[in-house]
Amino acid sequence: MIKDKIIDIGKKLYLKNLTVATSGNISIKTEEGIYITASGTSLGNLREEDIVLTDLEGNEISQGKASSEKKLHVAIYKLRPEINAIIHTHPVYLTSFAACHKSLKEPIMSENILYFEDIPVAKYAMPSSDELVANTIKHIKKRDVVIMANHGAIALADNIEHAFSKIETAEYYAQVSIFSNIIGNPVSLPKKEVAKLIKLKNTKK
Ligand SMILES: [Zn+2]
Repeated sequence: MIKDKIIDIGKKLYLKNLTVATSGNISIKTEEGIYITASGTSLGNLREEDIVLTDLEGNEISQGKASSEKKLHVAIYKLRPEINAIIHTHPVYLTSFAACHKSLKEPIMSENILYFEDIPVAKYAMPSSDELVANTIKHIKKRDVVIMANHGAIALADNIEHAFSKIETAEYYAQVSIFSNIIGNPVSLPKKEVAKLIKLKNTKK
């Protein structure tokens, strides 16, 4: 059941330190509408009643108040019809990049180029605002994971397991990037190698 899937993913996010307290939200798009976590819920400890069903415009169909970031979820589903699941959280390493307005673009790990190419930063805007939606959507046209300046990150995929894997891998990328810079002078792959990996990434699609 969809609600059980969201509850399980919330627990996994919490256990993997990918979310804290009541921050973040999860949604899954189905034929019935969008199942999204309610406003003010803790992703690590969700109950069935913490998940609200909305129509594709974000209007609540079931009881409860959908997350205040529902506008962002709705806009993403409209822009990318192949996307069926979204996770927005504030993981510590990705959010540290968000605090510094730094994208993850150093080509230091071949697998991450294959997976993300890079992870851009969307310009800051107030949480839940239309401006935040506009700033984030700009990057979502081409990317499945985006850092949101002074805020957190968002990952989207065809299903919830893949969205989880994307936010988990992005956080790992951020962590390795931070530690390799602490060790000093991480070595970027040469442009030629990066181009080969991007070509491989695009043929995999
Ligand atoms: Zn947030």
